[in-house]
Amino acid sequence: MEKLKVTDSCIGCGLCVSQNEKYFEFNDEGMSQPKQEVVDPEDKADLLNIVEACPGEAIVIEEEK
Ligand code: SF4
Repeated sequence: MEKLKVTDSCIGCGLCVSQNEKYFEFNDEGMSQPKQEVVDPEDKADLLNIVEACPGEAIVIEEEK
């Protein structure tokens, strides 16, 4: 199973939240956090585009058991 994470490198630009409200939301500090952690296979290509576009290089998709 693959899981979505947002690291401390997030600068709160909002790009991920504006592009994908299924997986990203703002936390109380105005930074991004995963809204849904488990990556559905059909959503992975979209998420990888956002990983590439993130200016903070803060989004990670990791394999987890
Ligand atoms: S695109 Fe990256 S830097 Fe911008 S809010 Fe999302 S995780 Fe943070």
